[in-house]
This record gives sequence, C-alpha cells and structure tokens, in this order.
Amino acid sequence: MIEHSGGCHCGQVHYTVHAPALLSVHECNCSICTKAGYLHLLVPRDRFRLLAGEGALVDYTFNTGTAHHWFCGTCGIKSFYVPRSHPDGISVNARCLDEDTIEGMTITPIDGRNWEQQYPAGRAKNYPA
Ligand SMILES: [Zn+2]
Repeated sequence: MIEHSGGCHCGQVHYTVHAPALLSVHECNCSICTKAGYLHLLVPRDRFRLLAGEGALVDYTFNTGTAHHWFCGTCGIKSFYVPRSHPDGISVNARCLDEDTIEGMTITPIDGRNWEQQYPAGRAKNYPA
C-alpha cells in the first residue's frame, strides 16, 4: 500500500487514498458511470482522507438514494463518492488521481446496469484487493 493523492479539476477538493501502486479498478456500465467515464477505486473509508474541499462538495442522489454522488460545485468533477455497492466505503475516481504514484491499472467491468444480477445481496461483499 502506498499513498496516492487526487482531487477535482479546479483544485478545491483534495484527498489522499491508500492503495497499491498497481491499481485494481472497476468500470461500470450504469447510467451515471457511463456518462461520467468514471473508474472506481473502491476502498474502506479508513483508507481515504479528505484534506480540503468539504464545503465545495454538492451531493447528488437518485433511485434508492444509497449512493451519494458528491461533485465539486465549481468545476463539476466527481473525484470520489459513496457508492451504492459499498455504502460504508468510498469509491475514488482513478481518473482523478495524480499520475506520479500510479504504476498501472487493471480495469474490470461491472454490470451496474443490471444491479440485482451483479449484486444479488444488494451490495458488494468485500473490497477488491
Ligand atoms: Zn473543483
């Protein structure tokens, strides 16, 4: 595990996250992830630290309201959020991480469009290694 840093486009939202240098990320085909081009780095909440920008975040919810799609109210970028699959954790947008600590990414598809088949228990059981 190493420390990566990342944030939104305008720089108000800034955070660190602990993860391997070779990232295991998920690409989801649901309605909002497709439009955003989001790449999920899913981590327990204690591996994420918001350093700045809490006041800049806007919360967007839809459907079950479980996920909190926080985005920066100035630049509009969703650099992390609370995902429906891991409501006690954080999904960091791997596209919003600073590149200098990243050795590579393994991208695995998630069929979020068919949520009930992808997550029969209603949510994911654990976090990717
Ligand atoms: Zn911003």
